[in-house]
Amino acid sequence: MSAKVAQALPWLAPIWQRLSSQAVERRLSHAILLLGQEGLGKRVLLREFSQQLLCLHVTDNAPCGACGSCHLFNAGSHPDLLMVEPEEAGKQIKIEQIRKITDFVNTTAQRANNKVVLLGPAEAMNINAANALLKSLEEPSSQTTLLLYSHQPSSLLATIKSRCQLYAVYTPPWQQALNWLQQNSEHESLQSILRLAKGAPLKAINLLEQEIHVQYMQFCQDMFDLQQSKANWSATLNKWKAWDSHWVMMWFYELILDVQKTQAGLPSESLAMQELQSQSAQVARGSQYAQLQSMHERLLDSQKAQQGQSNPNPVLIIETLLIDWLSLLGQSGRST
Ligand SMILES: [Zn+2]
Repeated sequence: MSAKVAQALPWLAPIWQRLSSQAVERRLSHAILLLGQEGLGKRVLLREFSQQLLCLHVTDNAPCGACGSCHLFNAGSHPDLLMVEPEEAGKQIKIEQIRKITDFVNTTAQRANNKVVLLGPAEAMNINAANALLKSLEEPSSQTTLLLYSHQPSSLLATIKSRCQLYAVYTPPWQQALNWLQQNSEHESLQSILRLAKGAPLKAINLLEQEIHVQYMQFCQDMFDLQQSKANWSATLNKWKAWDSHWVMMWFYELILDVQKTQAGLPSESLAMQELQSQSAQVARGSQYAQLQSMHERLLDSQKAQQGQSNPNPVLIIETLLIDWLSLLGQSGRST
């Protein structure tokens, strides 16, 4: 018997093997941190791994699924597992949540021989929460294993990373990801969806389920219509208002990166928004570095503001981005 997650998501099999055998051989560090982009299955992997750590009869490097501990785990009510995640997607992990870890570590395990804390995404901790977690990392408890994952390791405190055993989770090779997607979806535009998901297969599934791809194709069409003055931009913005603003901002972000890739001479296959390649190429030919940089910074600022407590108005941000983009298109049009 092998782990379910390694069968279902084959690109995770090597890392599962490593973690699982280290646990069986009792060589596992008290704190581990999985690093890799979103949509690879890091959280699912750590959930199953926490089941293995709590399982009373681990069989062939996988949880048995039948012991009392596994039953509690599957019912979602294992007292020796503490999940620490943002209360709302995209929000912060608060210091009160980290304080629960300290209490949890100080109690004895109730059903299993171990206790597990699963925390992520680690970058969702603000500075106070991260500093509070450091205390738990500095005073390891022999009974508790901390399992962390992060989609954005560059925004983590160096002291957090240095106190964990790090494991990189790599994006699968393009063809493996595409094959997997084809086995799990009958959608016709899987190449384009996988590109939007940056090659992360679970992210691609998520895009399909939320019909983000339909909106993406509409977004591209709208951008062409606006460029050719076939559409009115306030009506277009009104339509986009109904969509999740996160994605619209992401597409502008990718467009700017595509311009920079084009200017750096990277091949067109490396572009994320291939459907809008003619626009990014036109901007790349004529645009000024300062203008692109200011769009880039505006996007990063709004991203930070969204993760924090403040509530920027996404409609206004998108409006400004669209005006900037159209002006870059117009300006580059004049200069060629
Ligand atoms: Zn079990």
